Amino acid sequence: MFWAPELLEECEAESPLMFDGLALEQAKSNVEIQLDICAFECPYRKPTRLWFWNLSQTDVGPLKKKCKARRTSKGSPAICCFTKKPHEHLTGAVKSAFRTKKAEEYTPAFAASLAQALLGVEA
Ligand SMILES: [Zn+2]
Repeated sequence: MFWAPELLEECEAESPLMFDGLALEQAKSNVEIQLDICAFECPYRKPTRLWFWNLSQTDVGPLKKKCKARRTSKGSPAICCFTKKPHEHLTGAVKSAFRTKKAEEYTPAFAASLAQALLGVEA
């Protein structure tokens, strides 16, 4: 029997996902990890939770990257530990398009890391 790896994603700023009427936190998963998308060549932070089935902690370990943004002085913006720049904020709209739309797409670096975890292949 073949067990395909599966994945569900939730942005931590959103309300908890529902999965067949069951809150996702209550659904059993092999592995749950938290990460910040800024770790994958992205200008915004987007705290994200991923649930994986049929994968191990070893498979998804390289995805577990949390930002430790720090202020260099009082009143200055926090600097991302990955990009070395302040995080871009995805609030509001520009020309009637919500800035959060930008966060729907995965960066190539994140997509490649995800492919590596899910399929065991280098992208
Ligand atoms: Zn960051």
